[in-house]
Amino acid sequence: MKKTSEVPHDSSVCGAKSRTNKHQPCRRIPMVNGRCHLHGGKSTGSKTPEGRLIQKMASWKHGMRSKEAIAEAKTIRQMMHAYREELK
Ligand SMILES: [Zn+2]
Repeated sequence: MKKTSEVPHDSSVCGAKSRTNKHQPCRRIPMVNGRCHLHGGKSTGSKTPEGRLIQKMASWKHGMRSKEAIAEAKTIRQMMHAYREELK
């Protein structure tokens, strides 16, 4: 038996298989993707630059391993090395 999601369905109804109503197809009005707001599937992620930045910053801890921080540490290390060479 095919899954309900693979079976072509009437585009005027959602058609997702219900778990609570004896596995009958959902009869709600579908969105653009063909499913109702309850069966719309997984999120497709942030669309706006602000939303993407919020997502990025959610996992940001302290920034000490960021590209900028690593480049700055490298510059300081090189400067210290050059300074030590001058002292010799
Ligand atoms: Zn539905």
